Amino acid sequence: VRAAAALADLVEERVPLAPRSTYKMGGTARYFCEALDEQTLLRLAGILAEDDIPLLVLGRGSNLVISDSGFPGLVVHLGAHFSEVRVEPDGMVSAGGSTSLPILARTAAQAGRGGLEFFVGIPGSVGGAVRMNAGCHGTETTERLRHARVLSLSTGEITQRDAAELELGYRYSNLQPCEVVTRAWFLSRPQPAEESSRLLREVTRWRRDHQPGGTLNAGSVFRNPPGDAAGRLIDELGLKGMRVGSASVSQKHANFFVADPGASAQDVYDLVWSVRRRVREQTGIWLEPEIQFAGPFRPSPDEGLP
Ligand SMILES: Cc1cc2nc3c(=O)[nH]c(=O)nc-3n(C[C@H](O)[C@H](O)[C@H](O)COP(=O)(O)OP(=O)(O)OC[C@H]3O[C@@H](n4cnc5c(N)ncnc54)[C@H](O)[C@@H]3O)c2cc1C
Repeated sequence: VRAAAALADLVEERVPLAPRSTYKMGGTARYFCEALDEQTLLRLAGILAEDDIPLLVLGRGSNLVISDSGFPGLVVHLGAHFSEVRVEPDGMVSAGGSTSLPILARTAAQAGRGGLEFFVGIPGSVGGAVRMNAGCHGTETTERLRHARVLSLSTGEITQRDAAELELGYRYSNLQPCEVVTRAWFLSRPQPAEESSRLLREVTRWRRDHQPGGTLNAGSVFRNPPGDAAGRLIDELGLKGMRVGSASVSQKHANFFVADPGASAQDVYDLVWSVRRRVREQTGIWLEPEIQFAGPFRPSPDEGLP
């Protein structure tokens, strides 16, 4: 790869990715760049324009299954410089792309700004939330996002895009793999800190009661099909507890697939396919994964069956 030589002072090689994802599994990044600032990203862009290396922008890895053989290209991660939260003079709350969503929710609340409490239960980053249009408890990122600053690693262009331009839909945006959200601005309203604390507690309590906390997972595995809930369909077919190797369907919430410590990503992949096929056979519905697979996976025995 021509770019590899030019990237030498910006990247490390063979960096373990397991500690950087909530599943704590997967191999290494062939190349890894911890971007200190936008200048670093622009330098990367200048080099990458010359080459065709696969790219993965990694947030907090809370929606990802990283292949056991790792990612065969360049993984870009935003460093601490991108985690500043600010209340702007007009009351908007802005946060860098690597800001943890629970920290965004709590910082806004402490500053007397309400409306972002739902983020406290989502263990991702601001960039990941914009990319996925993350949401819960009846609110999605699109309802609060004013605009995002997006840097293209293929052209070096920086643009400011609002929710409509990003085409935010159900766990969808039109952001491309080479596009990095470096900062986002959110609408908020004045709210007494005590009221915010109450809402934050409500969200965290709901999570504790309904989700398999303390386990290795990446949140909801499948998108909900129109008018139904993926977890309900999987539960109704009696698939809670179903296991492939080191991965199993959570007993607490059937749309969460839990990995044993040291599990293989291929097991999660195969379990996803097994459940998909069973749901399809019994209900006629093809569930679509919400989690994303990064790097190569072997075709599952259930893949390709009618
Ligand atoms: C316990 C648990 C509960 C969860 N609950 C919810 C929930 O209620 N609602 C919900 O929507 N999700 C939920 N999730 C899933 C996940 O937290 C969200 O999808 C989150 O937005 C992903 O953010 P991330 O930083 O971890 O992204 P990653 O997993 O690192 O990446 C996900 C995608 O975002 C892209 N990306 C990451 N950072 C950037 C960036 N700076 N710029 C551009 N693209 C970027 C990646 O390239 C990738 O395509 C849950 C996950 C867990 C583990």
